[in-house]
Amino acid sequence: MLEFLRKWRRARKLAALTVPLATWGRVEAGLPFLDYLDADERARLRELARGFLVDKQFHGAQGIVLGDEILLAIALQACLPILNIGLDAYRGWVGVVVYPGDFIIPRHEMDEAGIVHEYDDEVLGEAWEGGPVLVSWHDESEAPAGVNVVIHEFAHKLDMENGDVDGLPLLPPGMSRAAWAKAFNDAYRRFCDQVDAGEETVLDPYASESPGEFFAVASEAFFETPCVMEHAFPAVYQQLRGFYRIDPAAGERRFREESHHNAPAERSGFDSPGGAPPR
Ligand SMILES: [Zn+2]
Repeated sequence: MLEFLRKWRRARKLAALTVPLATWGRVEAGLPFLDYLDADERARLRELARGFLVDKQFHGAQGIVLGDEILLAIALQACLPILNIGLDAYRGWVGVVVYPGDFIIPRHEMDEAGIVHEYDDEVLGEAWEGGPVLVSWHDESEAPAGVNVVIHEFAHKLDMENGDVDGLPLLPPGMSRAAWAKAFNDAYRRFCDQVDAGEETVLDPYASESPGEFFAVASEAFFETPCVMEHAFPAVYQQLRGFYRIDPAAGERRFREESHHNAPAERSGFDSPGGAPPR
């Protein structure tokens, strides 16, 4: 399609997509970490979320009906990591598949002896390179504690921009791959030791699965519990701040001062000792 025609159609779709203020308010109230954004950032996030809804195709799996509030909640969370990066980071694919809760992905894996093993993997989400993002949707009451499936899967998408899910995304100019690798490798090694020793951890133990999972789980915490993340992993926090070009811990402190709370609520550790399912 001619480029100008494509842009014109997109602009028309975007203009037609109106969201009542009350609806924004209801959806955002369910995402308390958005309070760490200032007024300008919140307005820009809404605009990005509208663009995301126009650009992507949503599919409800297993009978889930995707109402406006589910779509908006997913779009807002998907766009939070790219608030200062831009929607272009999600180019090249269109599908977002939403499941009602955990879902099963049948796997086939060949072992070293060449024998194929088939098994069912129960997951919270998955991102496919060049393909759709799969996420589970949980009602607030039954959402696994300390887990943000949407931010997690979209962090994987950003990681895939330069190939493998290896915890090393495409860094902006001025950031050092060596500094990134050192901060993440040190933290990952330390974290895996803690998990192996059965110690209580600030991040979901699932982060010890691989450097790619560590990056995605750290990204969830970076946006959801930024002060805790900054305190527990200062070097990783600093790298994530450079990558996402935002400082949510500063926003959290500002929010807590404004709301006359004394100190950030420290999360003592991940709530579920076994960790949440794969994602
Ligand atoms: Zn993952």
